[in-house]
Amino acid sequence: MKKLAINSPRGTADIYGEDIKYRDFINSAARDIFKIFNFNELITPAFEYTEVFSRSIGEETDIVQKEMYTFSDRKGRSLTLRPEGTAAVVRAFVEKKMFGPGNLPVKLFYIGNMFRYERPQKGRMREFWQLGVEALGSDNPVLDAEIIWMLNLVFKRLGFKNLTLLVNSIGCLKCRGSFILELKKYLENEKAGLCGDCTKRLKNNPLRIFDCKVPGCREIAQKGPGISEYLCGSCKTHFKDTTDTLSYLSVDFKISDSLVRGFDYYTKTVFEIISNDLESAQNALGGGGRYDNLIGQFGGPDMPAIGFAVGIDRTIMLMKDLGIDYEEDTKNIKVYLVAIDDVSKGYMLEILKLLRDSGIVCDINYTARSIKAEIKKAEKLDFNIIAFIGEDEAKNDSVTIKDLKSFKQYTISKNEIVEKIFEIAGRI
Ligand code: AMP
Repeated sequence: MKKLAINSPRGTADIYGEDIKYRDFINSAARDIFKIFNFNELITPAFEYTEVFSRSIGEETDIVQKEMYTFSDRKGRSLTLRPEGTAAVVRAFVEKKMFGPGNLPVKLFYIGNMFRYERPQKGRMREFWQLGVEALGSDNPVLDAEIIWMLNLVFKRLGFKNLTLLVNSIGCLKCRGSFILELKKYLENEKAGLCGDCTKRLKNNPLRIFDCKVPGCREIAQKGPGISEYLCGSCKTHFKDTTDTLSYLSVDFKISDSLVRGFDYYTKTVFEIISNDLESAQNALGGGGRYDNLIGQFGGPDMPAIGFAVGIDRTIMLMKDLGIDYEEDTKNIKVYLVAIDDVSKGYMLEILKLLRDSGIVCDINYTARSIKAEIKKAEKLDFNIIAFIGEDEAKNDSVTIKDLKSFKQYTISKNEIVEKIFEIAGRI
């Protein structure tokens, strides 16, 4: 029979081995920080009705125009694999009526895979993972500062140093209107330098020219009028209060007048954390902003909200490039059970059951090999302890364990093995 030779689809990845350790480290560092800031987890479906994304992200964005994985189900309903997390969180917030006055702001976080039909390259995939937070139901600038502080803290906790936090305000719908008029006027004169998509965007949604993938278009937009000059009084105050609070919290940031972020739903505060070690097209590790009209747009009450998303794959890629290591979970002890001969196999199963029943991660040798080869294998597979079981051990109801860090060896009775392993784990 002809063998199947099937690869994973372009732009996707099998994640295993060391990458799992990086992911665990990132996810658990982020979870710890989210919990410290009083955020709770929300898991939404990997696909939604297409309008959830098309209407919120914006018809003129690259995501909606070219990058969504959209399909009809068997009943002809249009569904889309989520390209980002916020729209689905807002859909759930409205649908499940999480907005009782006593709960606000509702603080949620998510970790999930996202899908965008992009041209795959380093740091850009078709299926990628994001972790993010959303705080719904308050427009207090302290919340803006807290969210930006939290984003910064995640990367600090991971060990990053050479990062810049960019912040800006793109105003509310009112003040943005007058800015867009001026921007249009300026861009009409620069039309010749814009790509085909941006010529269309100029008419329908000129703000999206700031995040066109063609660098020339972005440069033209950045040389035009700055949005800060067009902010209304209330947006100006909101932004000043946000940046003052950031300074008060000693969070370093830079104001970037050309930062607008790629989705239509953003209002007022927007921010991005960029790596100075990455080239500019893929240098954003995470970002977010306020979206004060989205909850209303989904049929919920008129309520402001703010959030961010971090790209997990890109963060791992950069950690590896920069030599930033993941930290092992110190409580994570792994025991390798080695039966030295056939006689002791039954006894080994007894010990295996004892350890697993006590919640200790362990595995066994399925093929008998020399002790030296077993030690090598255990080290390669990240076991911390080897438990040898031979004829003597089986006879005496004991186990010989070797701590692979100190290389100390102990022969102990079966009744004491769990306690001894926990004792060693405390030292690792
Ligand atoms: P966005 O939702 O576009 O604001 O993206 C937030 C973060 O997700 C970015 O800063 C990247 O780290 C990551 N990201 C976005 N698109 C991709 C992609 N196609 N492949 C890998 N990571 C991505």
